[in-house]
Amino acid sequence: MQYCFMNIVFATNNRHKVDEAQAILGKDFTLTTPKDLKLFEEIPETAGTLQGNAFMKAHFLWERFHVACFADDTGLEVEALNGAPGVYSARYAGEEHDSKANTQKLLKALTGKKNRNARFRTVIALIIDGDTFYFEGILNGKIGESPSGNGGFGYDPVFIPDGYDKTLAELTQEEKNAISHRGQSMRQLSEFLNNHIC
Ligand code: IMP
Repeated sequence: MQYCFMNIVFATNNRHKVDEAQAILGKDFTLTTPKDLKLFEEIPETAGTLQGNAFMKAHFLWERFHVACFADDTGLEVEALNGAPGVYSARYAGEEHDSKANTQKLLKALTGKKNRNARFRTVIALIIDGDTFYFEGILNGKIGESPSGNGGFGYDPVFIPDGYDKTLAELTQEEKNAISHRGQSMRQLSEFLNNHIC
């Protein structure tokens, strides 16, 4: 199947994510955001799964504008916590979306636990001509005993990727992008688009 378009809407107002996606998708695609479409209301993400939320956000745009669009959702899934905080990662410690409080709550929940295996998982939902496609990126690692590093955001200071002896917050942005869950899912999206666009 082939689709013909160059413009694609990313259901986020996070400039950092847009820049990262644009760099990966390349110059053949022009990324726009809800604000460019004069959509200023918050797009709901109340599904109980990453896939559900990614679809919900992309579908919100598709229904209103009938444009090629995609959305992502990410969660930190910790083995010893049965996959928590997962889809609730942003608001693990409350609606304030406070990264420090989230991290502290996580470290407390893991006190005394030997199994500190965890993974970041990103799901992207892409909608083109009403068809939906999903892409998933996973970064496996461990939760450290205490925060370390000043880079990145969210849970980066306590997440040690497999094969590394430092946290994501101690890697450069380029090093993180090369291995990250989001980077992986974006590269899959890019490959799909580049293979299916005429
Ligand atoms: P979002 O779906 O990209 O908004 O991510 C949801 C939440 O997961 C964020 O608010 C962060 O707490 C966490 N998160 C997502 N990606 C990362 C990452 O790359 N590093 C650390 N935390 C992340």
